[in-house]
Amino acid sequence: MPEQSKNVLGPVTGGCQCGAVRYQLTAPPSEVVHCHCSICRRAHGALFATAGVYDKGAVIIDNSKDLLAAFESSPGNQRLFCSRCGGQLFLMVGHWEHQIFVVLGSLDSGQHPGHERANEKHIFWESRVAWYDPCDDLPKVEGIGT
Ligand SMILES: [Zn+2]
Ligand SMILES: [Zn+2]
Repeated sequence: MPEQSKNVLGPVTGGCQCGAVRYQLTAPPSEVVHCHCSICRRAHGALFATAGVYDKGAVIIDNSKDLLAAFESSPGNQRLFCSRCGGQLFLMVGHWEHQIFVVLGSLDSGQHPGHERANEKHIFWESRVAWYDPCDDLPKVEGIGT
């Protein structure tokens, strides 16, 4: 693992903008995706959304679960966000029972998810906006690429 990807002081932490919802990640994600689908773009108000795929057991939400609101953005998929500030935090995909996506833009400053760069890619590349190119060397796949 490259030096800059180590979090030497314990779990990776993050939360929403207003600070009402806080979480800890106790293990690195199996994969990091930059999703360009229209649902992510609209949910996040961004050109693409970046999320890590975590085992549910590695995601600890601190005493603030009741402040999470849910929106079913497509059948079976729940997007969880702070009901106070609207910050997008988690995505649960119906048929992935044991995983949860964590929105990596919500990590605290200076935190690194700790994944290997080989496990990072752009998905739903065909849905990207035409006027912006991330210009990186990561894989770019249609849909989820499998
Ligand atoms: Zn909030
Ligand atoms: Zn998406």
